[in-house]
Amino acid sequence: MKKSLRAVFIFTILITFVLISTMFIYNKNKVVAQAIDVQSIIVLYFDENPINKEINDKKIVKSQILASKAQKIAINEYNVKLQESKFDEAAKSNESKIDNKNDKVAYLTFDDGPSSVNTMKILEILDEYDVKATFFVLGSMSEKNPEVLLTIHDKGHSIGNHGYSHNYKKIYDNSDSFFKDIDRGENVLKDILGEEFNTKLLRFPGGSFGKKKSPMKELSKQKGYNVVDWNVVIGDAEKKNPSKEYLINRFMETHKNKKNIIILMHDTDAKNSTVEVLPQIIDILLFEGYTIKTLDEE
Ligand SMILES: [Zn+2]
Repeated sequence: MKKSLRAVFIFTILITFVLISTMFIYNKNKVVAQAIDVQSIIVLYFDENPINKEINDKKIVKSQILASKAQKIAINEYNVKLQESKFDEAAKSNESKIDNKNDKVAYLTFDDGPSSVNTMKILEILDEYDVKATFFVLGSMSEKNPEVLLTIHDKGHSIGNHGYSHNYKKIYDNSDSFFKDIDRGENVLKDILGEEFNTKLLRFPGGSFGKKKSPMKELSKQKGYNVVDWNVVIGDAEKKNPSKEYLINRFMETHKNKKNIIILMHDTDAKNSTVEVLPQIIDILLFEGYTIKTLDEE
């Protein structure tokens, strides 16, 4: 009885062992199978899965969009460069047109000096702009300010004769008195600037306009003078202490639509607003495309 009980006990243990082992092996296989499934899902997900396809397709579309954007940018840049080069060419051809025509010329002229203060200020402004002007000087004023006359000359500006006295009654009485005054003025200029100094530029005091002055004008031409009047004013002799606005307005209305302009200004010490508006006048001339020259460059 004891022996059979022991055998049953051993048998039961064996059966239990086999059962547990079998269950263990089964479970292990199940895990492996599950692992294989997961792997296949992963493979599917990354390779053939329709969602993955869609993502891939989207990626392709995105990269295509980026490529076309890059292309568009490149085309735009090319067009911009093309336009720039066309613009440069146009600008160059415009420049050459302006150079060829050279049709707008302005002459800055200052009368009745040289004065000790304002002429010097005007010379400084002209230096700043690197432009030259023509000074129609009086003999009487040159005697008072010979250094200023020398400075005008040294800086390379043109000097014209405006007579000695600027006394209308005296000089326009007859041709003899007129040329007496002109010769006196010329002699003062030669005394200061040297005998070799010679100018044929002549501006009649008050201008050469009117019938009364025409015989004197004719004689002047016969004597070889270049009689120079003006066709533009800034109005600095039209009233006492004119405002800057008045001068600019007069300049704007008198030079409008004119290609060759001779501008009448005054460099006496009383004409402070002339000095004040001069930079603005030069700015306007340059902006409007005028070349600023001196009268003996003609
Ligand atoms: Zn004058």
